[in-house]
Amino acid sequence: MSMHVTPDGKKLVTVIPGDGIGPECVDATKRIIEATGAPIAWEERYAGESVFKQGIASGVPTETIESIHKTRCVLKGPLGTPVGFGEKSANVTLRKLFETYANVRPVREFPGVKTPYSGRGIDLVVVRENVEDLYAGIEHMQTPGVAQCLKLISRKGCEKIVRFAFEFARAEGRKSVACATKSNIMKLTEGTLKRTFEDVAKEYPDIESWHVIVDNCAHQLVKKPEQFDIIVTTNMNGDILSDLTSALVGGLGFAPSANLGNHVSIFEAVHGSAPKYAGKNVINPTAVLGSAIMMLRHLDEFDAAAAIENALLVTLEDGKTRTGDVVGYDKCAKTSEYADEIIRNLGRKSTAWKVREYKPILLPQVTTNPVMVTPKTRRVVGMDYFVEWGGTPEELGKKVEGLVEGLPVVLKMISNRGTKVYPSMGAITDCVDQSRCRLVQRNPDGDLSNADLAAIVTKLGASVNWAHLEKLQEFDGQPGYTKAQGED
Ligand code: NAP
Repeated sequence: MSMHVTPDGKKLVTVIPGDGIGPECVDATKRIIEATGAPIAWEERYAGESVFKQGIASGVPTETIESIHKTRCVLKGPLGTPVGFGEKSANVTLRKLFETYANVRPVREFPGVKTPYSGRGIDLVVVRENVEDLYAGIEHMQTPGVAQCLKLISRKGCEKIVRFAFEFARAEGRKSVACATKSNIMKLTEGTLKRTFEDVAKEYPDIESWHVIVDNCAHQLVKKPEQFDIIVTTNMNGDILSDLTSALVGGLGFAPSANLGNHVSIFEAVHGSAPKYAGKNVINPTAVLGSAIMMLRHLDEFDAAAAIENALLVTLEDGKTRTGDVVGYDKCAKTSEYADEIIRNLGRKSTAWKVREYKPILLPQVTTNPVMVTPKTRRVVGMDYFVEWGGTPEELGKKVEGLVEGLPVVLKMISNRGTKVYPSMGAITDCVDQSRCRLVQRNPDGDLSNADLAAIVTKLGASVNWAHLEKLQEFDGQPGYTKAQGED
């Protein structure tokens, strides 16, 4: 891992104080790190609300991007996305701009933080894919009343996150990795993660591996969270599961995270800018501090990281100085007093609460070639022709059947929001104004050319307007598309 070292031997970190409670959390964290004597220097840069308000639509100015290119390491407070300024979250922009593909969200039980799960020893990590999935943000209105979001999952993206999860398990001396997917419903997208996980797991026989359907994973996390060690999952599933896991150990004030990539790493709390507490000096900085502990380990400052983690555990165990989310805001310590107490406790170790032994994480080196899967055979067997249609399925079916006469395809079926509605199966479907006509080739052994597809679109498009088109392809004889509900 490359880092920028200053002439006086310090490791340079871009620090973004952030919005709302961000500056209070980041200030407390910096003071604690400085008190350990760790050789860290800060380069302060900005992103988020103040930047949006200057009219920079991305929320991330050039100076911040340049600094991150130089330091390759960021400690970041939460960033708000003010309504009416820019469309995209500056957080997501930062994560995607620097291909920080692994979002690591650990939670563990803390002393003195009472929850319904206290005493059960929760100590788990959600490893969330951070770049792909529905959060790629590719959305369209197919018709005025029907929206679409593309869920893109690549073999390469899955391989990176799965290998990362296993390497992370080894670095932390963990025993098992569970892969949580919805592959039973989304066989191609979520299924790609499951299949990749099963392939890659064979290379890590020292780590137990198992698959769990994501909804059951949520259920199991509430019922018996101590059974989990590492959970690897897709972007949106990971977003939801990791908020759930933070609640198991005392809430967002205790949930750190790291966004790791092969070039840049960004360390930040899971929580947002909690504007109602901004400037009151009452919030819990543990989540940002925990993120900084991960950062120190990433920068090979294992001793400073362990010293802070020990001091944090001792402070919570002593219970003299506690934050409002733990004891209530009427009788809590100030954020700055909590930080002072952690600084006073540097050098102390708890006997009952242990700090894990860590080794550096080996970031997986996956090929830079964009093409990861090369089938021996491929052919185009049809087309899904999505239309804006306000009439009945029967009217549409008859019309399309007439239009495809003389073309190399037939109409196999029409579906509405994924359920077959033509030929009718007698299902009760509340149709919307967007339908999919599945056109398959007349010659079962053929391979439709682009000219064939263009001719189909031209002829049908003259009277049934298309909203979206998809090729139906086969790779190595396997269909690269799924059936509609009810399709045979
Ligand atoms: P939030 O800022 O995470 O706050 C939600 C609630 O969580 C707070 O009201 C508070 O609960 C609790 N909380 C959060 N951080 C805490 C801390 N350090 N100490 C104690 N309690 C804490 O979520 P939000 O209100 O939905 O979002 C506010 C803004 O943050 C939005 O603009 C959003 O886009 C942004 N955001 C940024 C990030 C990021 O930068 N990575 C992440 C999420 C959201 P109680 O009210 O129960 O006390």
